[in-house]
Amino acid sequence: MTPLGRLAPTPSGLLHLGNARSFLLAWLWARGNVLLRIEDIDKPRCKPEFTNAAIEDLNWLALVKTGVTPESSQSTRTDLYRKHLKLLAQQGRAYPCSCTRRDIEEASSAPHGDEGPIYPGTCRGKWRDAAHAKAETGREPAWRFLWEEPPVAFHDEVAGDVTVDPSTLGDFVLWRRDDLPSYQLAVALDDALQGVTQVLRGRDLLLSTARQMAIQRALGLPSPAAWAHVPFIQEATGRRMAKRDGDLSLKALREQGVDARRVTGVLAWSAGLIGKPESATVNELVGEFNLRKLSREDFVLRDNHLGWLLHGSAM
Ligand code: GLU
Repeated sequence: MTPLGRLAPTPSGLLHLGNARSFLLAWLWARGNVLLRIEDIDKPRCKPEFTNAAIEDLNWLALVKTGVTPESSQSTRTDLYRKHLKLLAQQGRAYPCSCTRRDIEEASSAPHGDEGPIYPGTCRGKWRDAAHAKAETGREPAWRFLWEEPPVAFHDEVAGDVTVDPSTLGDFVLWRRDDLPSYQLAVALDDALQGVTQVLRGRDLLLSTARQMAIQRALGLPSPAAWAHVPFIQEATGRRMAKRDGDLSLKALREQGVDARRVTGVLAWSAGLIGKPESATVNELVGEFNLRKLSREDFVLRDNHLGWLLHGSAM
């Protein structure tokens, strides 16, 4: 079977070198056989200008050849996500939840998972349906996944064998109170329905793999066969790069006339694929890619690295 990977930017800000590195590695692992997915379901945070910039960045880095089609955007698939939410509700695997963030913080005597306080299951079995929850509380409810045993186990190419007990993460949101699908639901459905066979993304999403596999299983859908959650690039201050104003963006590098091959080369070197930073094209790097070579540590981007990238000065 030909592997199919994906590049899934969220257009809530400008992409940075950390994003570019994950996309480069995803592209190399799939030997260029990747689909582009614009993860723009979070309407309040996503902006068309960031979608356009992301596509230009990916074209510049030669990771995506064509522009975006309407199908590339998750925001065009809300009906599909809603249909599957209904299927889960019919099976008793999704339930309305009227808890506010504050309710949850107060109720759970603070065990925290990877996404904040673990939901204590307050609304499990409490409401007949969304209308009932709304009539009683005056608030539009969210919908949560009823996540029960068994534990979800998978192999990660970087982290090794991972087993997640549902109780350590809790019932998570499938549909938001502001009537938008959650990241977990949209991604689980897209990966399964678009035939994605391998997922490479940042290490912050390692445990979300268990959530996504649990959704796929509940719906009888396939899960990607292979996973790799890769380290981050950190600022010299020790902070992980983020899509915040002021962080070095790919757009800024493009506009300064930096050579994309230099960016590609420094990213490949920082990830452990090549022995020294040198300009490279993605095609030249395909033969260098090997999951076993990938560095297991975050890479700290220092001024000398940036100097080489921007001006070709010695490291
Ligand atoms: N859209 C997410 C991001 O930009 C990536 C999600 C994923 O790869 O599953 O961080």
